[in-house]
Formats: sequence, structure tokens, C-alpha cells
Amino acid sequence: MSSIAFDFDFTPDYGVPVELEPGLRRVVAKNPNRFTFRGTGTYIVGTTSVAIIDPGPAIDSHFDALMDTIGGADVSHILITHTHRDHSPLAARVHDATGAPTIGFGPHGDVPPGDPDDQIDFGEVEDDDQEPDEQEDETQNEHADGGYDDQFVPDVAVRHGDIIVGDGWSMDCVHTPGHTSNHICFGWRERKALFSGDHVMGWSTSVISPPDGDMATYMASLELLLHRDDNVYWPTHGNPIRNPRDHVRAFISHRQAREAAIVELIKSGTTSIEQMVRSMYTQVHPKLYGAAARSVHAHIVHLVENGLLTSASGKNRLTDPYTLAT
Ligand SMILES: [Zn+2]
Repeated sequence: MSSIAFDFDFTPDYGVPVELEPGLRRVVAKNPNRFTFRGTGTYIVGTTSVAIIDPGPAIDSHFDALMDTIGGADVSHILITHTHRDHSPLAARVHDATGAPTIGFGPHGDVPPGDPDDQIDFGEVEDDDQEPDEQEDETQNEHADGGYDDQFVPDVAVRHGDIIVGDGWSMDCVHTPGHTSNHICFGWRERKALFSGDHVMGWSTSVISPPDGDMATYMASLELLLHRDDNVYWPTHGNPIRNPRDHVRAFISHRQAREAAIVELIKSGTTSIEQMVRSMYTQVHPKLYGAAARSVHAHIVHLVENGLLTSASGKNRLTDPYTLAT
């Protein structure tokens, strides 16, 4: 497995704005958990007239911190990278308070409801690590089923290539489906900086959970970024990425290696996603096996679509046996 240089050195003061560079501030919400890392980082672009990127979860303290940070400035745009509950729910309240339009690709993808019986039971898992679990809030499952924000509808729906112009800044809309089908990054043209949402982060790979999460579009959305000349990515969680294309290349290699490992396991007779997780994720805490299973499932769906594998039921279920296509 190729190595990715992860960056875990991030300890925000919750609710305290930090000036990252002139005209760019960030306030981190106190919603740390195993999917949000230390919490949602809301970016504020501009000075007298500002844009807010990913207002975050519906937490009173974060709303108050954002309003304090903005002070008397005019808010011209509320930009949303995607509709997970740690990103978009506070947009409605910020819109009501400021009158600024919300802007995103669209509402959460219209996916068929999952089969409640199609679950892998990894058994009772002892939570014995040192993570600040006592601080975890109700948004901790936002990347699992039901963790999306089905209320959000943007005032303005944007498409790939659209340009949003504000006071002293402009943003490219870069549609990057994969983590969700409606994920969009915003490229700050004057700075060659990309607000990368959850598509590319420094502390973790993205969770790709079918059916709204899609490995084929995710890989294409990684390739897309290699054709841009951004100097830095500002993800919603964690530190900026200063060598963005190397980081993206490492992610692509990591996923290709994972896919090859899955094919090898199937060739050697492993047919269940549960067994694949148990043999591939030996370095990972068992409490993350559920997320790992969704990621393996995403790879498997991709391999089935490419004609390399078949599922026993023909429905690509999480609990199906998988074999090489003949
Ligand atoms: Zn997300």
C-alpha cells in the first residue's frame, strides 16, 4: 500500500477566529468526531463584504461564533461544498440572519433507501483509544446512512465551470462528485487556492459510501484536480495541503492499490466484504470496520461496473458474496 503523508497536527480553539492569510479566516465548530477530525472549519473569505464557506452543523455556539466573527461586515454569499450534516445545516440560519443567498450544486442526491437488512455485523467493539469521544455529538454518523442533510436546497444552484464573483475575490465552481454526488469545490482564482471540502483532506482519505458515494466519480474527481494549478487546498477539516497535486496522486495510488488487493483476495477465494475488511484493515481500530466496509463496497461496485466482478444477487449488496466475472 502506498504511503500518504497525513497531517494530524491540528488543535483548534473552538469558536475563535484565526486569520490564515489576509482576507481569509476560519472558525472551527466544536463537533469533533472520527469523521470530522477536530471539527468543521468554516471559512470566511473577504473583509468588508464576505463569503462564508460551509457554515457547518446546527450548533448554537458555532452560529454565535460566526456572527461575532463577521461583525458588521456584509455577507454576500453562503457557499456549500456538500450536504452532510457537518457542512450545510447551519446555512439556513446564517441565511435568515444575513439575507445572503446559499449556493451549492443542489440538494442531497436522490438515492434509493438502503436495505436495512443489508448490514455487516462486526460484533461488539471495545472503544479503548484516546480520542475525545466524550466530546462527540449527534452529528458523528453524518457519513453513515441518515447522516446527510435532506433539508438543504440552495438558493442558487451552480454547475461545473460557473464563476462566482464577490468583493475582491472570485471562485471557480469545480464539481467533484464521489464523496457525495453533489460535492463541489470552490477555486479562489486570485489565490490559486481550492476550498476542497471533504473531497481532499490532509488528515484522512474521504469516506466513499454507496450509493450516493461513488468510487468511479471520486477517482475521476481526483484526476480532475491534477489538471488544475492550485497552490494550496483548504479542506473543511484539518490543516491546508501545501503540495496538493502530490497529495492527490498519493490518494489515487492508494485507491488503485486497494482495488488490486481486493481483486487478489477474491482470486484467493475470499468472497465476503466482511472477510476482506478483516484481512485488509489490520492496522485500523475495529470500531472503524463499518466505515471500512462501506469503502470496500464502493471499490467492489466500481469493479462490478467495470465487468471484473459479479455479485451473487446481482444487486451489489454489502452482504453479497462476490466472485470474478467469467
Ligand atoms: Zn462529508
